[in-house]
Amino acid sequence: MTSKPSLTCEALLTEASARIGSDSPRLDAELLLSHITGLSRTSFRAWPEREVTESQAEAFERLVAERVAGTPVAYLLGEQAFWSLALKVSAATLIPRPDTECLVETALGLPLPERASVLDLGTGTGAIALALASEHPGWRVTACDAVDEAVALARENAASLGLPVSVVKSSWFSQLETARFDLIVSNPPYIPDNDHHLAEGDVRFEPASALVSGRDGLDDLRLIVEQAPDWLVEGGWLLVEHGFDQAEPVALLFRDRGFANVQGLQDYGGRDRMTLGQWGQS
Ligand code: GLN
Repeated sequence: MTSKPSLTCEALLTEASARIGSDSPRLDAELLLSHITGLSRTSFRAWPEREVTESQAEAFERLVAERVAGTPVAYLLGEQAFWSLALKVSAATLIPRPDTECLVETALGLPLPERASVLDLGTGTGAIALALASEHPGWRVTACDAVDEAVALARENAASLGLPVSVVKSSWFSQLETARFDLIVSNPPYIPDNDHHLAEGDVRFEPASALVSGRDGLDDLRLIVEQAPDWLVEGGWLLVEHGFDQAEPVALLFRDRGFANVQGLQDYGGRDRMTLGQWGQS
């Protein structure tokens, strides 16, 4: 007697987890099965023997095969959770990372005016700008990106979340209208162009324009730190993300440019990941 392959959630998840070669195979499999079936991840634990339909199992298998080939889960789902928001993502932008939520938290802790004017440089999906706008309805938040698809995606995310972020096409400051900001935030590309990390994991599928920045990874950070003072109010803040081994050179860039109160900050994993400085206060 031949029996049908088991289509229980648990059997599908166990089988898929064994094939997915990521850091989090079980989580990846659960996210994909949840996406296909509409069932919550907790329900897989509460009711492991629940069966899915054959067509759901087939659709799940197609996603698992792509995940096994390396495609990031966020691209397969078309969305990524960031802060309290569900953001649409596409292969034209970086997938928002949990580490960058630290940057949001740091920005929210700064002593800023009630109606602060804030700029997110290189916004990608709009993640940082939208998270800030969601916490501070009184802030005037502008986001820019040099890539058309990113501008469109950030606008789409702002519209579907109902958040009043103004998204502008601009390569860094070059196409912005003259304005002064109380806070400029950025998660720019900062990986050195020969870094072996670029050949591993999700970053292989993400756009190089969002990741790579010259030989030492600091080309874009140099430009941002150099030009930011022209766009900051007296006492305004610049807050950037960078690689965990770039804290020293980035702090030096800030100090050389004349920023005061320069501070290195850590991400949730305790790695040196952000630098903050204040313009024109000593
Ligand atoms: N933190 C990302 C990574 O290492 C890079 C993000 C970026 O370059 N802004 O995968």
